[in-house]
Amino acid sequence: MSKPTLGLVGVGKIARDQHLPSIAETDLFDLVALVSTSGAAVPGLPTFATQAEMFAAFPTLDAVALCTPPSVRHALTVEALRAGKHTLIEKPPAATVSELQDLVDEARRADRCLFATWHSQFNPAVDAARDLLAAGGVQSVAVTWREDVRRWHPGQDWIFAAGGFGVFDPGINALSILTRILPTRIFVQAADLLVPANRDTPIEARLAFRPASDAIRGPVTAHFDFLQEGEQTWSIAIEMVDGRRLDLTRGGTVLAVDGVVTVSEPDTEYRRIYRRFRDLVDRNASDVDAAPLHLIADAYSVGRRRTVAAFDW
Ligand code: NAP
Repeated sequence: MSKPTLGLVGVGKIARDQHLPSIAETDLFDLVALVSTSGAAVPGLPTFATQAEMFAAFPTLDAVALCTPPSVRHALTVEALRAGKHTLIEKPPAATVSELQDLVDEARRADRCLFATWHSQFNPAVDAARDLLAAGGVQSVAVTWREDVRRWHPGQDWIFAAGGFGVFDPGINALSILTRILPTRIFVQAADLLVPANRDTPIEARLAFRPASDAIRGPVTAHFDFLQEGEQTWSIAIEMVDGRRLDLTRGGTVLAVDGVVTVSEPDTEYRRIYRRFRDLVDRNASDVDAAPLHLIADAYSVGRRRTVAAFDW
């Protein structure tokens, strides 16, 4: 079968760091065009200012990959699906839960694939942790996701604007791992949301969860912090009922059991994502997991908001 043609929309950090190299390495899609509001260029590819212009120039285009911030994702995804394009969307999949549900309906009506990616789920260490937890009871779970926003998101003002998710932009990656590996559903019980005086979204958040069943016996907590200098931490520590300790570290790429590393895979998330997308396109099937987005919405729903010191780059 010939390779589906692909257009990439939003040529920012993640498009350049991960999507463009992974599309090239996996060689499962024929990348033919870009859409960039700022006129970003990649050698050998035409750049269009809007999706509509790209669709007009490539009427048989099969698929698009949307790498923009979440605030504009719903409108761009609806436009792509209605134009008959299979659509991959970056995380978080939409600004609100209702928008995401609407996209699921749009994909069904368009009879096209919608793939809402959660890159942190695409790690062998995450799959291995899920298998271990399925076979034994969980005593407690502690998520620590502390990174320096100035280092990883320099100048991205959209992240602190309403609909930009703030520290939940990385934090939702941790939740996407939790919802994948835990043996039972969890509910947000309490949340502290610390919002800079000059911004809309949290710069730090502490969440406490209540498990839906006794498959998890003790506390489940998460701490997300955007002001971590020095060593950066993206880790999940799990104590099992039988006394074993699981540590998922480096954003879910490394798993250690009782201190011994059992899975360590360098960053292959996006290559796996494009293999999955090709499989979905070939089967004209969708893959949308709304659970991590629901938890963020729930944190806003039950959370207490506190104003903290203004943030500037
Ligand atoms: P970014 O560097 O700001 O890039 C986003 C790009 O989207 C912009 O460069 C711009 O590209 C386009 N865009 C279209 N409408 C926009 C708007 N209203 N505001 C800002 N940009 C707009 O952001 P990013 O880090 O690549 O993140 C994009 C998405 O990927 C986010 O949802 C993020 O959560 C996700 N993600 C990021 C990372 C990471 O490490 N940064 C990792 C995984 C996932 P044009 O100028 O070409 O239009």
